[in-house]
Amino acid sequence: MINLVKPHPCLSCGACCAFFRVSFHWSETNAESHAVPIALTTQINPYMNAMNGTDQAKPSCVALKGIVGESTLCSIYEQRPDCCRTFMASFEDGTRNESCDKARLSKGLTELQRSDFL
Ligand code: SF4
Ligand code: SF4
Repeated sequence: MINLVKPHPCLSCGACCAFFRVSFHWSETNAESHAVPIALTTQINPYMNAMNGTDQAKPSCVALKGIVGESTLCSIYEQRPDCCRTFMASFEDGTRNESCDKARLSKGLTELQRSDFL
């Protein structure tokens, strides 16, 4: 019997990267090897930077590659900010993430269900 493993739904989504302002403490861009590349960010106040492309009326992160809703990837995956690392797809940890749902619905995608991770 073939064991078919479902691909992670984020790989064919990317909606949250093209919906929210992605902002974080400026220190996440600071020097260390895994820091967010500062050239891809903009300072938005004395404490916070945002990913370029996300602090605008129609956000789309500069690091997002591919087509939302079809096939996407984060081109700075190992260096992405903490807010991206901790943002869970709905039911990835067994609970619904209403922000994931909101982003997906805005792109014409359906909300994820528990069965997407079974
Ligand atoms: S909106 Fe949800 S499913 Fe889509 S990429 Fe973001 S976390 Fe993943
Ligand atoms: S840094 Fe990567 S994970 Fe974060 S919003 Fe941009 S493309 Fe998405």
